[in-house]
Amino acid sequence: MKVAPILPGSTIGCLGGGQLGRMFALAARKMGYRVHTVDPTPDSPTGQISDREYNVPFTDISTLLEFARGVDVVTYEFENIPVEALDALATKVILRPGRDVLYTTQNRRREKEFLQKNNFPVAPFRVVHEEADLRAAVALLGCPCVLKTADFGYDGKGQQKITHDTDLAAVWQRHGTGAGKPAGVVEAWVPFAAELSVVVARGFSGADGECQSQAFPPTVNEHENHILATSVAPAPLASSILARAQSIATEISTRLDVVGLLAVEFFLTLRGELLVNELAPRPHNSGHYSFDACVTSQFEQQLRAVCGMPLGDTRLLSPVLMRNLLGDVWGNGTPDWPGLLALPGLRLHLYGKSEPRAGRKMGHYCVLSPNLEQAWEIDARAQRLLRK
Ligand code: AMP
Repeated sequence: MKVAPILPGSTIGCLGGGQLGRMFALAARKMGYRVHTVDPTPDSPTGQISDREYNVPFTDISTLLEFARGVDVVTYEFENIPVEALDALATKVILRPGRDVLYTTQNRRREKEFLQKNNFPVAPFRVVHEEADLRAAVALLGCPCVLKTADFGYDGKGQQKITHDTDLAAVWQRHGTGAGKPAGVVEAWVPFAAELSVVVARGFSGADGECQSQAFPPTVNEHENHILATSVAPAPLASSILARAQSIATEISTRLDVVGLLAVEFFLTLRGELLVNELAPRPHNSGHYSFDACVTSQFEQQLRAVCGMPLGDTRLLSPVLMRNLLGDVWGNGTPDWPGLLALPGLRLHLYGKSEPRAGRKMGHYCVLSPNLEQAWEIDARAQRLLRK
């Protein structure tokens, strides 16, 4: 059955006011949609360019219902939204991706169990509830391994690497506090050849309105201190690996019944095997390159998917390198933006955040060049300017 499209001029609700929502809102506004956002903090990156910003916690159900009355569809730009809020919203307004997608992916344990149950490749793991479980898991999985919190972890927050000489009692002590200690997931350490990711969109794109998925070109990603530092496309890996990553991501989006975006992060093991590391049902930092370098960006694709519009062409138009700009770059005062903008092929994105704290994602740049070698050279020049 065909799904009625939500047409330009309609209003999209966005839960979360960060940079992902901001770039989504830019894409939506470009196409003549209005945007309302919810974020606990005023003047959020998304709120700055939204028609309306509700500054309430996600537990304020009555305000969320008021927000729902003013929009035609609701999407989200981060995972840490209580599922009770989504349940309440889903009774009043179309929610895309649906509540179950967020429920599964906002908790590492549920996500990993879903992947394992559906035979998607993941690193060996064990769920732990107490110190004895942790000891048993470490004995079983071997060292090194890593303890991660099950709930609400991102950018390496709540992760502790465990080696042979690690004091497990101390690790368990640090793993959350108080009586309601969160469950944890212990994962085998994966010595990887590369990390890569794929953003896939799924929407009512078929001729009869059935759901179809469309993957973006994969990126190879490098992290520093567990935070994404750079992504490059086209990913410099064998095309068979890239096709497999896109096919796994597409299958996961179908199995989860996503309407919207799904980002899938992978480890490529030293033996050439792909293991799924993490899922996110929203635009992803590693997909920012698409804003400058693809026919359709991940943000416009999210818009098209959640509005029931045909999905766009995800073709890569140019080799591209994306680098995050963290608050650390402000160490010596305002960075040399004119110097950066003078570099050939560099496109600057800043998120409108006023406080440049260390480790905080403040912006990014993309370098578009005829090939990745040249993009890395421009990036090295940009890095020298930023370190001045
Ligand atoms: P995560 O928040 O789980 O995506 O972890 C952030 C980063 O930490 C990953 O992108 C990897 O660089 C590293 N990491 C996390 N888990 C593992 C693992 N099991 N083996 C090797 N590296 C890992």
